[in-house]
Amino acid sequence: MKDFKLNFGLVPDSCWYSNLRSCLPKDAWDRIRRKAYARAGGKCMICGAPGQRLEAHEHWEYDDKTGVQKLANVVAVCKACHEVIHIGRTQLTGREKEASEHFMKVNGCTYAEYRKALGEANEKHRERSRKEWKLDVSRLPEFM
Ligand SMILES: [Zn+2]
Repeated sequence: MKDFKLNFGLVPDSCWYSNLRSCLPKDAWDRIRRKAYARAGGKCMICGAPGQRLEAHEHWEYDDKTGVQKLANVVAVCKACHEVIHIGRTQLTGREKEASEHFMKVNGCTYAEYRKALGEANEKHRERSRKEWKLDVSRLPEFM
């Protein structure tokens, strides 16, 4: 898979706890969120767009051999980047065209490359959704 600056982050369907905010007390998530915004310094941590309302995104890494889903980072991103990351959800809201344009602009790539990356991400997602994942949030204290 090509290493794009902005890429899709499809969470396997089998990940029960894939959403950190739903398994943390609300004040803990708020603290993590605000800390990510502070680290971002008013700019999207992926595309660098300034002056945007930022959203916190949990970045997970998957070890396909051990079946461990590990929290790798909590980043503050703009809405446009977040919509690319969660492309499945974005397609459902009818905003895929905007997301594809943002993907091409940030990554400096063609529509064909976007389609290829999306195909690969969907394939990986199907593969990963077939198994159970163990959650590793050992890095969580770093983000609190
Ligand atoms: Zn962005």
